[in-house]
Amino acid sequence: MTVPTLQLNTGHPIPQLGFGVFLVDPAETERIVSDALELGYRHIDAAAIYRNEEGVGRAIAASGIPRNELFITTKLWNDDQGTQSAHDAIELSLEKLGLEQVDLYLIHWPTPKRDLYVESFKALEQIRASGKAASIGVSNFLVEHLERLEAETDTVPAVNQIELHPYHQRPAEKAYGHDHGILTEAWGPLGQGKYPLFELPEITAVAAAHERSAAQVVLRWHIQQGHIVFPKSNNRARMQENFELFDFELTDVEQASITALERGARVGADPREVN
Ligand code: NAD
Repeated sequence: MTVPTLQLNTGHPIPQLGFGVFLVDPAETERIVSDALELGYRHIDAAAIYRNEEGVGRAIAASGIPRNELFITTKLWNDDQGTQSAHDAIELSLEKLGLEQVDLYLIHWPTPKRDLYVESFKALEQIRASGKAASIGVSNFLVEHLERLEAETDTVPAVNQIELHPYHQRPAEKAYGHDHGILTEAWGPLGQGKYPLFELPEITAVAAAHERSAAQVVLRWHIQQGHIVFPKSNNRARMQENFELFDFELTDVEQASITALERGARVGADPREVN
């Protein structure tokens, strides 16, 4: 199965489907990421705070997959915001990942009360110029944070990685991204299992019509919405299921019935409150 790529505003391609490693046990990470790579995933969404970059790195090294066939993201944690600490943090992440460059480096949360995200993004600009990250972006940024970056820095983030699923669709952040060339990455694409999405008739009816699982329908909805997704599972059968999204297509009516589920319901924290 070939995963389509989207083009970042740096010109680099990003596979639209990847594998996320939030809450993957560090002791299990090498095995689980090796499974993902074996199943065909080539895009891994990591973060320093997940404390499993070493396992991701070991799986990459053991896979023998050429570096240019992989797309690796990691993220600057909140406590490391600031110029020097951001430079130190990317060094440490690269060392743990066993890489000379990540494909994408993100500010994990804006942490507005710290008021360091503009300075940190300028450090990411330097990190990109040094070749340690091919593209840079942000995560959990609201429009007000994106507007400040636009006013005070020289680089448009390549992506904004935000909580996004049928119950929380983020029209304001998506519209800003669309207008400025920022791709939207959807974290918690399945709502982290905290809502009964897989039992909703709007989703189960579509799943039955396509002889697919409810999870595949929700992920396919994301793909057709143009989102980048990296669902997480420790279970190889589910990892495989989540990879099989490109041999069926939802109709416009089916897409619309899932889009109509919006209710502004977060599973994660309010980005203004994470500091
Ligand atoms: P998710 O919506 O992918 O949900 C994961 C949950 O869904 C797990 O409990 C898993 O067991 C279950 N699941 C996965 N596949 C399934 C299937 N086919 N059928 C039934 N259940 C299934 O949520 P997530 O892991 O939080 O998000 C995905 C990735 O996004 C993370 O791994 C991480 O890389 C990233 N993320 C980023 C942030 C951020 O702040 N930037 C926050 C959370 C997650």
